[in-house]
Amino acid sequence: MTQRVRVVVPMPAYSQIGSTLTYRSEFPLTPGTLVRVPLGKRETLGIVWDAADDEKGAALPEHQMRDVASVLSAIDPLGRSWRALVEFAAGYYQRAWGEVALAALPPQLRELSQQQLQRRERTRPARAAAVPEDAEAQVALSPEQALALAGCQASRGPHLLFGATGSGKTEVYLRCVQALLQSDPLAQAMVMVPEINLTPQLQDRFRSRFAPHYGDDAVVSLHSGMTNPQRLRSWLAAHKGSARVVLGTRMAVFASMPQLRLIVVDEEHDPSYKQQEGARYSARDLAVYRGRLENATVLLGSATPSLESWHHSRPAVEGGRYARQEMPSRIGAEASLPLVRRVDMNHQPRHAVISPPLLAAIRQRIAAGEQSLVFLNRRGYAPVLQCTACEWKSGCLHCSAFRVFHKIDRSLRCHHCGYAEPVPRACPECGNLDIAPVGRGTERLEEHLGELLADTRRPDGRSVCIERIDADSTRLAGSLEQQLSRVHSGAVDVLVGTQMIAKGHDFRRITLVAAVNPDAALFSSDFRAPERLFGLLMQAAGRAGRDAAASRKSEMWIQTFYPLHPLFDALKRHDYPAFANRQLAERASAGLPPFSYQALLRADARTQEAAQRFLAAASSCAQTQLAGLPGFSHLTLYPAVPLGIQRVANVERAQMLVECPVRAALQGFLAAWQPVLHAVRQSSDGQGLLRWAIDVDPLLI
Ligand code: ADP
Ligand code: ZN
Ligand code: ZN
Repeated sequence: MTQRVRVVVPMPAYSQIGSTLTYRSEFPLTPGTLVRVPLGKRETLGIVWDAADDEKGAALPEHQMRDVASVLSAIDPLGRSWRALVEFAAGYYQRAWGEVALAALPPQLRELSQQQLQRRERTRPARAAAVPEDAEAQVALSPEQALALAGCQASRGPHLLFGATGSGKTEVYLRCVQALLQSDPLAQAMVMVPEINLTPQLQDRFRSRFAPHYGDDAVVSLHSGMTNPQRLRSWLAAHKGSARVVLGTRMAVFASMPQLRLIVVDEEHDPSYKQQEGARYSARDLAVYRGRLENATVLLGSATPSLESWHHSRPAVEGGRYARQEMPSRIGAEASLPLVRRVDMNHQPRHAVISPPLLAAIRQRIAAGEQSLVFLNRRGYAPVLQCTACEWKSGCLHCSAFRVFHKIDRSLRCHHCGYAEPVPRACPECGNLDIAPVGRGTERLEEHLGELLADTRRPDGRSVCIERIDADSTRLAGSLEQQLSRVHSGAVDVLVGTQMIAKGHDFRRITLVAAVNPDAALFSSDFRAPERLFGLLMQAAGRAGRDAAASRKSEMWIQTFYPLHPLFDALKRHDYPAFANRQLAERASAGLPPFSYQALLRADARTQEAAQRFLAAASSCAQTQLAGLPGFSHLTLYPAVPLGIQRVANVERAQMLVECPVRAALQGFLAAWQPVLHAVRQSSDGQGLLRWAIDVDPLLI
């Protein structure tokens, strides 16, 4: 007898959230089974789903139904909790089940046939033999580490491991994983790290800890830098359970792991955990949800937690449901956090980029054979070129932004659309030959430091070596590793770079870190800017004095026009709690997250008017059609506004903020708004619109 099966497919983004398609199959198929099904003229990968009643599908006459084309039985069906995670993520972030589910699978699964998959399974390498548990000598845990570890093992959490930079958080993660693998022969652990921190060193550390005991394929990685065959191999190992540890970036949160018992999210505050296209999910938040769903322990770690997580870990807070484990000290009896020094730029020579006292301090470090790290969060040579005779500036033709001057290849490059051109010989408007760079990026800072340090000598008598690390210097594969190894070897005296070097790296020889120009974020219209700045500066400071012997003399320098700003004051005392509590008080009085919940409706169109017309119609339809929803009166729908950078690649962008103190009310509203938005899109108010999307819990507003 033929069966009706419901299948999710990679639907176009704007189809309904919970929709499935109905197909005919000769055999009953278990939910979670991977199938190939016809869709229009194509054939596509789909997943059998145990959806709630699909009335349209059930009413479909037999002869209109199409057959499942093939069943990928080489792969076990995806489990119930994996499907529950997908349904939750799709519902919460307002995307279709099929879109979220299929995007979570390795791309190669979409192309391979059943036979190809079976062949792949057969050629899998055998497991390495197990070796005794104590094959590797282990460091003794510090008392703080031991306490934190015991705390993390006492309950499922979620735990917030609040540990200073260099306090040995990674070792705590390793021990948690180790204890789990030893106690349960099937258990699996997931360890997530930010994009930028998934270095070969970290992967080696996990591999060397666990591969000798549990086999070569016991530790696998999952991130966007892998080839499709590599990703498929890791994914299959996790799905089959042969991978005991999955180490990955945000995408790993969707890995199918049937025996998942522990989820670690390192640097949980890092913005790279938020996906910025398609389903705009937060991998950190999904990790917490997944932990509850699968009864797995969740461990979030950071020296500067997100204010959301910090808030949840405050004992006095109602609903404060995270257990906080604290490790305030650095590893090593002598070790301390760097001394923070503020340079008041109001009292320095005008236009000084590196103030005289900072320059003197850098020279001293060089003479002592130590390294300095100079940090500026802007790459390129100068953010703008400007004509000295007329009004011309190096704007981008396609965006409402300036093109950045890159002196190395004498180009003007737009960092938003990629549009690049050689620098004009003369002003395109008036022909004046004198066009000048305005402002400063890492390239120019590197050049400037080269001039300032031209006659400074290293202890070996050689001249100073300055290395710049940013997205431009590391474009080629392997170049970041090469640059880092030059830093580690001591060949480099001064390291110049963007936030890329401020995070995560375990530099041993750096004793001075300087933030040259961090002021802009103090007065940003983005309410999260201070949180990001504080985190970044704490992280940057954390690169100094990581070697215990050198930590006593390590320093973090801040050049600022606002030395008395409370943010710098808290930084000086390494007092994250003071900073966080103050910020939370401000947010509470302003009704901002985590005391309210937000979503953005974004619209892209050929003209700004079209984008705003769609948003305005969406808002007025909500008022007229949805006002009866429970909790609607708690919602605030703000007016539509253009984005900060309003036009990118000739697309005009606008957005509208929705805010609500009650999460459930916001969620209910968004779900009810979906069909309204589809209708507005089809109406005359949708004319000229290219696309719309909802961003729940947006990070950038
Ligand atoms: P964090 O992630 O908290 O900044 P790490 O985990 O990188 O800190 O640890 C800092 C340094 O201390 C690393 O080089 C690590 O190998 C070392 N370390 C960690 N725990 C111990 C320990 N118990 N004994 C000795 N060294 C340790
Ligand atoms: Zn001109
Ligand atoms: Zn552009």
